[in-house]
Amino acid sequence: MTETAFEPVPAVAPSEPEAGLGLVVMKFGGTSVADPEKIRRVAGRLVAAKRRGGRVIGVVSAMGQHTDELVALAHNVSPEPQPRELDMLISVGERISCALVAMAISDLGHGAISLTGSQAGIVTDTAHGKAKIVEVRDRRIREALDRDRIVLVAGFQGVSTDLDITTLGRGGTDLTAAALAAALGADACEIYTDVDGVFTADPRLVPEARKLHAVSYEEMLEMAASGAKVLQLRSVEFARNHDVKLHVRSTFTDEAGTWVREEDERMLEKAIISGVTHTVEEAVFEVRDVTPADLFGALAEAGVNVDTVIQIGSDTVFSAPLEDRRAAEDALTALGADWVERSELGKVSVVGAGMRSHPGIAARAFATLRELGVEPRFVSTSPIKIAFFLPRESVEQAVQALHDAFELGSTEAERAHA
Ligand code: ASP
Ligand code: MG
Repeated sequence: MTETAFEPVPAVAPSEPEAGLGLVVMKFGGTSVADPEKIRRVAGRLVAAKRRGGRVIGVVSAMGQHTDELVALAHNVSPEPQPRELDMLISVGERISCALVAMAISDLGHGAISLTGSQAGIVTDTAHGKAKIVEVRDRRIREALDRDRIVLVAGFQGVSTDLDITTLGRGGTDLTAAALAAALGADACEIYTDVDGVFTADPRLVPEARKLHAVSYEEMLEMAASGAKVLQLRSVEFARNHDVKLHVRSTFTDEAGTWVREEDERMLEKAIISGVTHTVEEAVFEVRDVTPADLFGALAEAGVNVDTVIQIGSDTVFSAPLEDRRAAEDALTALGADWVERSELGKVSVVGAGMRSHPGIAARAFATLRELGVEPRFVSTSPIKIAFFLPRESVEQAVQALHDAFELGSTEAERAHA
């Protein structure tokens, strides 16, 4: 996989500020467009936004599990599909849903046009399957908006500098939405999904978990990297770098959701911890007697995004995103390294911007785990996160106990404005 030697900073600054003309980007996930009835409902929401005035861009994911089905189909035909052809195939899901939404909008008596990522001017590098956006050439979208159309853009895809169709990594429709919001100077980027927002913990594990009114970009980055699935990690990074406010909210209600935005005092003072995230599956490797320079050189070569690194004497422990597991295994084997995979581990993380300025968070977290009789195997930290690698079967009770210990079931934890 080659990366183009293209300008690495995406050229997405708004080309002309549109004073007085509000623009909103509204992204709808796969469950929001899963069947014809839901597609008509999404069309209705876009039309309602248009009627409130201003300009509307809709960005949609593939219907339901369509992308998974296409990936499975490819692997049924070919054991290792060519990355270029795989992108050609799986980009189709979004093309279908955005055309259908445009049809439904026309039936409601409004002008609409659907565009592929390529037609929308989303230019990427050539890394198939995880392409980076290098530029948004938004002329065609602007012209359509000027003609009073609701513009539907197929998420998750672009066209490479080599003119091939690329995809932006799983969950990449969030990134399409954030990039369009940045390029066109939208007032907000609304992410409509099947949950009500970002919660202090997974409500399926912790029924008293609270919906957060606001989280900072940094917190959301840590949460997305440590198990919160509501937003694609790269979209949060992009939103932060380009100052795009994200509003994560439910497709099925009108209630406000969670704002992801720059840090403010309610995040630091109202509740020091924003949430407890978890994963039950982690790609953790323990490697013996390989110098870190050689090890990480080989992993970088293989395109593995290394997450956590812990050095213990001549042993190195590292973790990587699950989708990079195969590549990491292959790289370690090629290196002739002595390694084992710690597949019995999950991870529980405590995240909060207030951690930087409030001592004692680590002490309370460790004490809570000790009371439970759970012994973390590895611990990794950032200025606003403490992550514990623990046996999988302890993950659930650790999440509940930490949520309790930091009083995240209280109204304070929501961080609402008074
Ligand atoms: N349909 C793509 C996926 O399933 C992109 C997205 O939903 O954001 O990953
Ligand atoms: Mg998603």
